[in-house]
Amino acid sequence: MTEVRICHLYPDHMNIYGDRGNISVLTKRLQWRGHSAKVTSVGIGEKFMPNDFDLCYLGGGQDKDQNLIASDLSEKSPAIRSAADDGVAFLWVCGGIQLAGKSYVDALGSELEGVGILDLATIAGEKRLIGDIAISATLDNQEFTIVGYENHIGQTHLGSESRPLGKVLHGYGNNSFSKIEGAVQQRVIGTYLHGPLLPKNPELADLILMWALEHRTSETVELEQLNDEYSELAHKRAFNRALTKR
Ligand code: GLN
Repeated sequence: MTEVRICHLYPDHMNIYGDRGNISVLTKRLQWRGHSAKVTSVGIGEKFMPNDFDLCYLGGGQDKDQNLIASDLSEKSPAIRSAADDGVAFLWVCGGIQLAGKSYVDALGSELEGVGILDLATIAGEKRLIGDIAISATLDNQEFTIVGYENHIGQTHLGSESRPLGKVLHGYGNNSFSKIEGAVQQRVIGTYLHGPLLPKNPELADLILMWALEHRTSETVELEQLNDEYSELAHKRAFNRALTKR
């Protein structure tokens, strides 16, 4: 039995479209395998201790929420970057992917400094990108589809250091033209997919948990297969809905 130490960043400010549900999925999928999760909330004014965590989670937020946390986040940035360099698993969603990059210029033109754990930059576009989304992802030599819901004004552009999480099959993704979604660098995943994301995407949840367990144990980890009947049904339904909507 291994205790995985999860940091939930700014839970009071960065939690839209049920993003907090991702923490429940990570916790339950560990417990179903006889492991445990120690979830620690780290908010404004609270220290981020890089050696205390195996997984760092940040949900999405409106521009005003991102502005509220931006200066505190930049104070935490060096410690967060050192955690990423040490192989901690990261899942940062929507407003999170934007703040994981170099900068986010919001809809009112304020430029927020990003942490720099993903090589990307984001700037608000004309049109809000909203709707069901389905992508085909390749991660750690595994190929699988990921479904979710997106709602963002930010248009994200990747630099050479980060690679896309996947190709857009339906929806927008990082911006309104490149048909790629998300970003991956080291063991940091940024994505625009809300929902919450993980209940309908068990492969992604388990890949992130495998990374977190490997960080905690410093060993290669094989996760036992769970009965994912309901998650797979939900995934299929969301996937078909996304692809039939034009
Ligand atoms: N405020 C950011 C945007 O509108 C992120 C939104 C979100 O997290 N859903 O692009």
